[in-house]
Amino acid sequence: MTTFLEGLRCRECGTATAAEARSACDECFGPLEPAYDYEAIAAAMSRESVAAGPASLWRYGALLPAPIENRVDLGDGFTPLRRARRLGAELGLPSLWVKDETRNPTHSFKDRVVSVALTKAREFGFRTVACASTGNLAHAVAAHAAAAGLDAVTFVPTGLEAAKLTATAVYGATLIEVDGTYDDVNRLCGEASAE
Ligand SMILES: [Zn+2]
Repeated sequence: MTTFLEGLRCRECGTATAAEARSACDECFGPLEPAYDYEAIAAAMSRESVAAGPASLWRYGALLPAPIENRVDLGDGFTPLRRARRLGAELGLPSLWVKDETRNPTHSFKDRVVSVALTKAREFGFRTVACASTGNLAHAVAAHAAAAGLDAVTFVPTGLEAAKLTATAVYGATLIEVDGTYDDVNRLCGEASAE
């Protein structure tokens, strides 16, 4: 399967650019999002094609920005729905189901975006991936980088619980504790990545 990605488009002003490793619009600094050929996707995708795919979010590969053959996939997504009868009764919702995202490989929904992002990073030829995180994202990045053969550098604020740090470090990621707020951590990560 190929990809139906056409390029990137600014969410704010609509300016289109090529599918490159960039996140902000040249015109207005708005966020760039993938743009797809939805007509072609509609023609290629069916209930049967989805059901025949892997037991992960990559069964929806037609709606993702990389060919499924290239995927960094630890079994991300495709998490079960659980009936929540008592919560539903409390809320007046007789048919309430919750998506159990703790069943992802590193136990959070962050695995979904990291699976796709690291697939794309490897496709672009990057050797090192980085993130700013208060725990879950660092864990997800470290695990997927280990599986993909990429180096990971994770920036976290000081004072995180030891269990969170251990979960990331066990995958061999470089952990950098930053004495500051999450915004400070995020800024430093962005600046270091640009270098
Ligand atoms: Zn723009």
